[in-house]
Formats: sequence, C-alpha cells, structure tokens
Amino acid sequence: MITVRQALEIALQQTARLPIEEISLLESAGRVLAEDVISDVDMPPFPRSTMDGYAVSSEDVRSAPVRLQVVGMIPAGSYPNFSLQPMQAAKIMTGAPLPSGADAVQMVEKTRSLDEESSVAILEGVKSGHNVSPLGSEARQGEVVLPMGTFISPAVIGLLAAVGKNTVAVYRAPSVGILATGDELVDIAVRPALGQIRNSNSFTLYAQVKQAAGKPHLLGIAKDTKANLRQSIAEGLQYDLFLATGGVSMGDLDLVEKMFAEFGLEIFFEKIAMKPGKPVVMARSAQDGLIFGLPGNPVSAATVFEVLVRPVMRKMMGFPVYQNQMALATLTEPFTNRSGRENYAPSVTWYEEKRFMVRPLKSKGSGDVVTYAKSNSYLICPIDRTELSPNENVVVMLRPDFFYC
Ligand code: AMP
Ligand code: MG
Repeated sequence: MITVRQALEIALQQTARLPIEEISLLESAGRVLAEDVISDVDMPPFPRSTMDGYAVSSEDVRSAPVRLQVVGMIPAGSYPNFSLQPMQAAKIMTGAPLPSGADAVQMVEKTRSLDEESSVAILEGVKSGHNVSPLGSEARQGEVVLPMGTFISPAVIGLLAAVGKNTVAVYRAPSVGILATGDELVDIAVRPALGQIRNSNSFTLYAQVKQAAGKPHLLGIAKDTKANLRQSIAEGLQYDLFLATGGVSMGDLDLVEKMFAEFGLEIFFEKIAMKPGKPVVMARSAQDGLIFGLPGNPVSAATVFEVLVRPVMRKMMGFPVYQNQMALATLTEPFTNRSGRENYAPSVTWYEEKRFMVRPLKSKGSGDVVTYAKSNSYLICPIDRTELSPNENVVVMLRPDFFYC
C-alpha cells in the first residue's frame, strides 16, 4: 500500500495547470494571477499628507514654536496652484498633495490657529518628510507590483483596483463533478426510511470545492448497479475533476473501480495507508480529466479531499505552493494509533500562551459527522507511532476552518 506522501506525489504529477482566462476583478478572489501586473501610476501619485494639519517647510519650524502666515487650504482631491514662500504654511487635509516649498506636515493637534486663521502657531518642529508619503514611494509607474502566480486575496484585490485592473488574467478554476453512489442513499429533503442514509457527502464536497474556488456541479446519487454507475460516470468524465464517493471498498456492490476500468481510465492507485480513507481510487481519463473515487464514509471522503484533492485543485489553479498549511502544536492528551496507517484525527487546534495547542476529538469513527463538524484541523499521527503523549509536539494540518473558528 502506498503512503499518503506517495499518493500526493502521484496525484500532483498527473495534475496539469489549467489554461488562462480573463475575469472581472470582483470575481477573482481565491484565484491566482496569470500575468505580471504593472502599475500604471506612481503610488502615491504626488507627495501626500498622511495627516490633517499644516504643510510647512521643516527649515521654517526648526525653532518652534513659530508663527507662520497661512496662505491657502488644500482639501483632498484638489491640487495646490501656489507654492510656499519662507515663513508660510498651508492648511492641509489627509490625502491632499503638498504644495511646492513644503516638505513636511505638522498635525493639527500640535498647532494653534491665530488671527481668524490667517496665521498659525506651529508648536513643535518637524523633520523633513514628517507625515508625508513621498511621490512614488510605494510603487513607481511601470513597476511590476504583483508577479504572476500571486494568490488573489482581498489585499491583492485592493492593489489591483489601485492600478486600475478591471479584469485580470487568472488560471481557470476546475469544474468539478460530484457524484454520490450507494443504494442506501436518499436526498436530504427526505426523511430516511429504515436502512436509508441521507446523502451528506455531496454537500460537504460541494462546499469544499467552493471554498477552494472551484466550480462544483452536483450529479446526484447513483445506485450500486453497473447501468446506473455507467451513466453517471460518463457524465462525471466531462469535468476537469470528477469526485465520486462510496463503492470503492471490498464489498460485493463496490463497483466504482470496476466501472472506471470499464471506461478505460488509467488507474494510479486504489488504496492509501491513511486513516480514515484507506480505499481511494485515483484515475485519469483520455481527455486528462482527473478522477477520484473517494470512500463513502463522510469523514473519510472529506479528509481525503483535504489531503489529496485540495492540493490537486491548487495545482490546477496555478498556486505556487500546493501543500496544506501545517503547524507544530502541543498535544493536550494521549493519542493511540493502532491502524498501521498515517492517522488524520479530527482535532481542535488553537493558539494559547505563545504556542499552538491541539486536542484530538473523541470520534466514533469515520461515519461520525457530529464530531467531525466540531473539528478545525487534523492531528497527524505518523504511520510508525502507536502512542503520542501529552505535551509532545505534534504536526497538525490546519483546515481553512481554523481561520474562521
Ligand atoms: P461505502 O464506501 O459505499 O461502503 O460506504 C461506507 C459508508 O458510508 C456507509 O455507511 C454508507 O452508508 C456511507 N455513505 C456512503 N455514501 C454516503 C453519502 N453520500 N453520504 C453519507 N454517507 C454515505
Ligand atoms: Mg456503498
């Protein structure tokens, strides 16, 4: 059986970056830039006051307190058509351009207006450049401000907006077909009869794909029959990525891998030394679509998505780094791993007193969605460790949930 690391290597090896598309800036959060972005302006475009106060020459106020003649007032959005002569000042607002002759701003709190605002007492001196952002100090016109491969966060969107990018070139987000398989599954709108289970996997995967900025499509529930699977798999193969859950273990009705073979898909592995999530089939279609047959158990399916599929999606979308965020954390209680596999235990990780702490949750197993829903991370217990002790430093894999709860 291959290790998780080997499975991830194989999966990434088979993954190609998707082509480039041009999309609206507002739609681009979560994607990756496929172009170098050049600033079309100097930033700031003029020497800009960072305070409400008085624009002065630092020379004039060296021996403060001093009295200066006020020769104008510069609100943000205007441009001064005068220059300061010696012993003159101009009232200035935050974001407004300095007049020539001024090289600093004294904040209004350190001044006193005199003679009905026709002069001002500057109560403390200022050094040249004080409270001023110099022209072009953040970026010069023509400079690459965001290189290709940059992840588009809200902060990046702000910079793209500042340089006037209405649309941006990004790597395409994968379309992802999501299929549930199993005779026992019913739609969530239905109250399950005896022996039936609501199809929760499709919803978890839909949310995971969306969170990864992919384009999920629900393909419903297929029965455990060859005819039914054949039809649904044919549909699933039209997507960049096809995720099926269930039907990949050793039972008589676990037909998914057989059907993949019938479609002539190239199969790379069907088992991983991972808990939860041992049975995982990875395949590729002739059209280069990637296919994952994930385990039916909800915690297994969601975990294999995080460990394998999310990095694959990152590579498709042009991320420079594919792997998930890891951290070292202090274990709060003993942990046992008798599986002989690398164990991804649903856990809660938090920051406290200058370190991360991790508490593995008492799960009833890989069907236990109640416990799983309380987790924000996985404690990773290595394949060769059966016991982890409290206070040990352990590796945790942070899910995006970690940053929100
Ligand atoms: P399987 O991998 O098909 O043997 O399914 C393993 C377990 O996961 C069984 O208890 C199934 O009822 C359950 N299961 C399979 N598919 C789903 C699904 N889409 N939603 C919720 N549970 C599922
Ligand atoms: Mg099944």
